[in-house]
Amino acid sequence: MELRGLPSVENLLKALREEFPHFPHSLLKTEAQQAIDQSRAALRNGRESTTPLEAARARLSRLAEPSLRQVINATGVVLHTNLGRAPLAPFAPIAGYSNLEYDLATGKRGKRDQHCETLLETLLGSPAIAVNNNAAAVFLVLHEMAAGAEVIVSRGELIEIGDGFRIPDIMRAAGVTLVEVGTTNRTRIEDYAAAVNEHTRLLLRVHPSNFQITGFTAKPGLGDLVQLGRDRRVPVFEDLGSGCLVNLFDEPLARESLAAGVDLIAFSGDKLMGGPQAGYIAGRAELVQRVRRNPMFRALRLDKLIYQSMEQTLRALVLERYDEIPAMRMIRMPAEVIEARAQALAKRIPGAKVIAGESVIGGGATPEKTLPTALIALTGNAQARERALRAGRPPVIARIEKDTLLIDLRTVLPEQEEELAAALTQPHGEGL
Ligand SMILES: *Cc1c(COP(=O)(O)O)cnc(C)c1O
Repeated sequence: MELRGLPSVENLLKALREEFPHFPHSLLKTEAQQAIDQSRAALRNGRESTTPLEAARARLSRLAEPSLRQVINATGVVLHTNLGRAPLAPFAPIAGYSNLEYDLATGKRGKRDQHCETLLETLLGSPAIAVNNNAAAVFLVLHEMAAGAEVIVSRGELIEIGDGFRIPDIMRAAGVTLVEVGTTNRTRIEDYAAAVNEHTRLLLRVHPSNFQITGFTAKPGLGDLVQLGRDRRVPVFEDLGSGCLVNLFDEPLARESLAAGVDLIAFSGDKLMGGPQAGYIAGRAELVQRVRRNPMFRALRLDKLIYQSMEQTLRALVLERYDEIPAMRMIRMPAEVIEARAQALAKRIPGAKVIAGESVIGGGATPEKTLPTALIALTGNAQARERALRAGRPPVIARIEKDTLLIDLRTVLPEQEEELAAALTQPHGEGL
């Protein structure tokens, strides 16, 4: 394209109005002007440019269509960070008003915490509150308990979770002075003891989550840390990361930390717990109340949509209806059941065969943890087919291993299976 070939705003606007008849005139005009300006700038700089019509059309289509969509997760990674971590259980959001902060019994003002209080206390055996996510929970505890003072943490636990959550950074943001003790691989209780002084406000223990230290290692047991805290009158705070609430994954249970005497714990709502994004803080009643009164609690509070989904998750946990929590149902699904589903589906796809493989729990929860599964191995050009599936409606996200495209039904919702079958049996151009 050349500069002379650029359309006038009027002509471009006319074309856009035909394609987007229901869009506001002012929006179309702004987009037309912008598309022409950008093409002109690109051409002046000697860069290639799409035509203004194409550019404006692409932007306007994006404005009209939902960007956040349901996808089919065929990767076998249950808590897939890029696909929203724990899959959301179906729930019909309450439209209109709700009793979010209204006590129906007294007709007076209530607190939004009231909806999950009892369920949480039943699950954890201690009072608990919830905020936006675990990063917020850790921040809030540090800020309330230790702003302007010192927090002791082992060098082996100064971790990064991903997407910018780093323990030293969150501590700095909370106004806390980090006191590192021990070494990367070995920290002893004496290291903590030597660092405690009159400025110490917390002993922090962090679950290493997505990495492991193996070999010549040592760290004090939780009991030793608790004892030291008691002796020196410093509370112990544990960031549990994924926070396991039920005994299904051979991970330490959240309530075990509290039973061991830890004063405060924090954990994520959308990892092993399988609920919506949230961060929970539980522990000694007076400390939880203190954290609840921190002004930042108001800034980090949860929305009503979350409370509704959260209450549903917590109730399923309390009543042990684990299969109502999609992530738990997927993790608990036996390989034989997946194999039967895979065999039935593979029969309908030319060239597909079923092989043994592994699913991953994921979510920065348990790095090594895999689950035996049955995979559908597809023929053809894996890269091209992966792209085609991803561009489909709904998009199918699959994994490629050794140039083979693999489908793991563990993470595919049963109600998505027909859509997946349709996507997989569709002609896809290259190399069937
Ligand atoms: C995942 C994780 C976090 C962050 O939790 P979010 O809910 O993602 O904010 C913090 N600490 C640990 C140890 C974690 O594993």
